[in-house]
Amino acid sequence: MSSDLNPEDRPAANTAVVRDALRRPLHDLRISVLDQCNFRCPYCMPEDEFHADYEFLNRQQRLSYEEILRIAQVAARLGVSKLRLTGGEPLLDKRIPDLVAGLAAIPGIDDLALTTNAMLLAPMARKLADAGLHRVTISLDSLDEDVFRRMSGGRGDLSQVLDGVAAAQRAGLSPIKINVVVQRGVNDHTVLELLEHFRGTGHIVRLIEFMDVGNRNGWRLDQVVPSRQLLEQVRERWPLRRIDQNYPGEVARRYEYVDGAGEIGFISSVTEPFCGDCSRARLSADGMLYTCLFANQGTDLRESLRNDADDEELADILSQIWLQRADRYSELRRPELAEAHVLRKVEMYRIGG
Ligand code: SF4
Repeated sequence: MSSDLNPEDRPAANTAVVRDALRRPLHDLRISVLDQCNFRCPYCMPEDEFHADYEFLNRQQRLSYEEILRIAQVAARLGVSKLRLTGGEPLLDKRIPDLVAGLAAIPGIDDLALTTNAMLLAPMARKLADAGLHRVTISLDSLDEDVFRRMSGGRGDLSQVLDGVAAAQRAGLSPIKINVVVQRGVNDHTVLELLEHFRGTGHIVRLIEFMDVGNRNGWRLDQVVPSRQLLEQVRERWPLRRIDQNYPGEVARRYEYVDGAGEIGFISSVTEPFCGDCSRARLSADGMLYTCLFANQGTDLRESLRNDADDEELADILSQIWLQRADRYSELRRPELAEAHVLRKVEMYRIGG
């Protein structure tokens, strides 16, 4: 089954595709299953704030699997065909193959992916694949041991992460995408080494411009390495050619090595924003629905669920949220405001990237 199908062409049982105020369809739901993580990446969950006594959501505060499944089923009826499980770090939840099995059974879902830092992936890859997971995206910012350790807040183990990548490949969780957040003066000098490592493996490396997500990463524009600059650097080493999007709304600009060593992508939210066909909604682990990665407010679906809203009511709530949606933060971003961190935005660890 190919996840590259154009969503408009895919018939799904009694689906009424809803479009937002900019005519963008609701196609992609990202589900954060928990807010905890085993890393402390400084640009997302800095150690000094997320210390040992930090109070994360407890089981009661988090949506149950039944609640997540209900939202996903209703979302599928409104046109969602792609689900992504994320966190925090979703594999900290050992029961997650059960959730995967439930989501994989929803009619109309033809792309079920999971984003992880892969530290816990090796022992779980087979179970996830058997449960119905299609593919994984792995956050891996560098293969330089020191840089990797710094960027994971001293908690990551590179060999364990690479074991996870190998286990995912053996389990058929592919295409495996490797997401690299590139920060000037932090890991940009190790990008070519990482690309070299994954050339010829079939894994797709995506180089991501450092974004002003959340409120804690001290973002400045001069820390961003524009994708076009990175593209030139890569081209000097290996000839590349541009290839078409898999479907409208795909975030990465795709290229392939002319020598056949595979595909890489560039995700350029800062210098080449792609809000025009953004079809993504995000559900936090405590049931808040956000319509943009940089949202400053969401809608509490947990309250409706726990006040016995039926599926029709849930569908109305979701449709109304999406119909009124007009988000295009990246297109309207004003770096001076972003650098001043005046806008209170949802934290990335609560909704996944
Ligand atoms: S900034 Fe918001 S609207 Fe734009 S692409 Fe990102 S999530 Fe979508």
